[in-house]
Amino acid sequence: MQPIGKMMDRPLLISAILEHGAAQFGQQEVVSRETHGPLHRYTFSDLAKRAKQFANALQHLGLRPGSVVGSIAWNNYRHLEAYYAVSGSGLVMHTCNPRLHPEQLIYIINHAEDEVVLFDSTFAPLIKAVASHCPRVKHWVCLSEAAHTPAVEGVKVQSYEELLAPQAPVFEWPDLDEKSGAALCYTSGTTGNPKGVLYSHRAITLSALSDCLPGVLCISAQETVLPVVPMFHINAWCLPYASLIGGAKLVLPGPRLDGASLHELMETEKVTVSAGVPTIWMGLIQHVEQNNLHFTTMRRTGVGGSAMPRALIAKFSDVYGVEVCHGWGMTETTAVATMSNLSAADMALPAQERHDRVAKQGKSVFGVEIKVVDEQGATLPRDGVSQGELMVRGQWIVERYHKAEGSALVNGWFPTGDIATISPEGVMQIKDRTKDVIKSGGEWISSIDLENAAAAHPGVAMAAVIGVAHPKWDERPLLLVVRKPQAEFEKQELLDFLAGRVAKWWVPDDVVFVDSLPVGGTGKVQKNELRQKYGSIFSS
Ligand code: ADP
Repeated sequence: MQPIGKMMDRPLLISAILEHGAAQFGQQEVVSRETHGPLHRYTFSDLAKRAKQFANALQHLGLRPGSVVGSIAWNNYRHLEAYYAVSGSGLVMHTCNPRLHPEQLIYIINHAEDEVVLFDSTFAPLIKAVASHCPRVKHWVCLSEAAHTPAVEGVKVQSYEELLAPQAPVFEWPDLDEKSGAALCYTSGTTGNPKGVLYSHRAITLSALSDCLPGVLCISAQETVLPVVPMFHINAWCLPYASLIGGAKLVLPGPRLDGASLHELMETEKVTVSAGVPTIWMGLIQHVEQNNLHFTTMRRTGVGGSAMPRALIAKFSDVYGVEVCHGWGMTETTAVATMSNLSAADMALPAQERHDRVAKQGKSVFGVEIKVVDEQGATLPRDGVSQGELMVRGQWIVERYHKAEGSALVNGWFPTGDIATISPEGVMQIKDRTKDVIKSGGEWISSIDLENAAAAHPGVAMAAVIGVAHPKWDERPLLLVVRKPQAEFEKQELLDFLAGRVAKWWVPDDVVFVDSLPVGGTGKVQKNELRQKYGSIFSS
């Protein structure tokens, strides 16, 4: 008979991450840009004390184990304290995306049954719009001192600092089951209502540990981490946890995510690692290029959420010496599921080939398995060519949505709705979302590949490709382009440029120049809006 291992059985808990950070890296800094006032600066040890004070405050508000605390907040130190205080004390931290439509926000606050909502003063108008529709919320708490707590008509607002002040910085974290719910996040719900994913302490801890691996984001006490990815969506890729596990200095950017503000913070705080969606890096690079700046300490940046254009990867690497770690994940995968993770052989490749490799979404990290399947669910070969739906399973992948009766899995795997290939070496490449792929004459055209090709044109600031109904071919690609300031080129030049880079039948049927593209709450181009607007351009 197989003997049982004779090891301790200690649960993986979020409170343990905080205690570890405070005990081993107590003097490490957390720097936070605030909505009001100068940069706020304190240590992991201060963070732990205040998280305990807030845990006490939550108990005084009468919350019971499993009660849900919502947040509508930027990446800042009080939000970080709440991350630890709420989950650590056995409550559920429900991060809400402030860029959701107010109706969706109301839906998720009610569906999650939030009893307390924490918010930044910036979002006071939003609170005014939603509060009367959220009858279960007993306490609206502004993440500020009394002086900056706004009056919100019809809503009793409490100040976070006033709640905290009378509480002792001592709190006995409960010994929870590691499988219990710690945090809750809803998908953006571009189709239908948002769906909630309830992350366990175990899932978050394992995912955060994985962030620390050298092949993932290499978070250690030698690094200074700037998570631009919002704490209100997908746990900021677990970086607020990974930084305390690894002992890294944590820099929180608050509300200012424009290129100039981020560059200034990176330089003054000597940031070495960052993470965010491609649109953020486009804004940053534009600022750096226009002002002839450089990066003094930045070594690498994690990018995901949508495909990072190859041209931008090349620029970061070749011009600015910043390595791009291109990853893939979704609300349902807690944080990172795949990452570029280059081998020594990849590193030795000529720059062009190395960038091609990084433009793919990479290898699954340990703890996550991937495969692609055809429409009948049969596993496709890992040949880098066969495309099918990407399926994932692993220790931090959703099993069922919050309050859903049935499992979300198909034969034990989560269907992602993304179309991908996997190479013999295990490198996954997202070709499209099932709803975005262009079906032309019975063949598929990858909108991501086309966008990548267009983004390589020196005058293109942003590009999006959608499939538009076509009388003969079913669908044909339409390219929408935002030109860089001062760039002068017309449609034909761009089409000729693309003709040299993609198969002839992939070349878009038309190009529309626009001033901007609609970007949604998580930094992605809203293709459904574009389809609504331009969906009949080839049939009319
Ligand atoms: P939603 O946009 O529906 O809210 P998420 O924020 O959870 O969902 O985003 C998950 C989706 O984002 C993935 O299913 C995938 O389509 C896309 N995505 C994430 N990372 C990448 C990437 N590196 N390249 C291309 N697409 C990506």
